[in-house]
Amino acid sequence: MAEKVLWGEMTRLELEKISGQVDTILLPVGSLEQHGPHLPLDTDSFDAMYILLEAVEKLDPPRPPILPTISYGLSEHHMAFSGTVTLRPETLFSLIFDIGRSAKQHGFEKIFIYNAHGGNTNVLKEAALQLKYELDLTVFIDSGESMEPGKRELVNSKNDVHAGEYETSTSLANRIDLVDQDKIKKPTLTFPDESFEFDHKPAFFYTWSTDELTDTGVIGDPTKATVDKGEQLWDGGIKLLAERIKTVMEL
Ligand SMILES: [Zn+2]
Repeated sequence: MAEKVLWGEMTRLELEKISGQVDTILLPVGSLEQHGPHLPLDTDSFDAMYILLEAVEKLDPPRPPILPTISYGLSEHHMAFSGTVTLRPETLFSLIFDIGRSAKQHGFEKIFIYNAHGGNTNVLKEAALQLKYELDLTVFIDSGESMEPGKRELVNSKNDVHAGEYETSTSLANRIDLVDQDKIKKPTLTFPDESFEFDHKPAFFYTWSTDELTDTGVIGDPTKATVDKGEQLWDGGIKLLAERIKTVMEL
């Protein structure tokens, strides 16, 4: 039997054995939110587990266990579109803190979070700091940074941050049967002026809501998405993530 990597599939004894061999655990974090008219609501949650499973596959045993996905995130900015279910920031903070506290008690010292939803990032960082200060746990958060080099190389659409060229390509590559390709269409994006655009650097923060910026819920251009781009994006991202996890395990 192949070595188990999913925390939830292990027996208590199997988990105990792993905790004696590795000090790192992996936690996928996603969202349940509208992804335009053509992508599934659970895209971020599915992708977070997908990339971790693929990355772990590249590591030699003993491999770090993967906790069950946190399948909800902070998606208040998508609530104008149906299907979105959001947590309050304090809920996500508490979830991360409580999971960390439990893992620490079972002998793990490092948590590597793969976060597939940008809206979660600030609260995840706050929870990570609290775990460090209160429990001396070390937390690492990859909010898609492993995918960045591929994105810079392959994605050409402006302001492509949600269900656009990038995310539609990655979904075509890993779940083509759930992409409603007839519904793929370029949205009309409205920014107050150029300095509000996501590509504008230096960026400044403002409390945008998705429905203020786009008519379809998409931000970016999904019409430029292809299976091939998605496969290349995943390949590069999985390799980088695997290296990063290995580095963390060796610290
Ligand atoms: Zn997404």
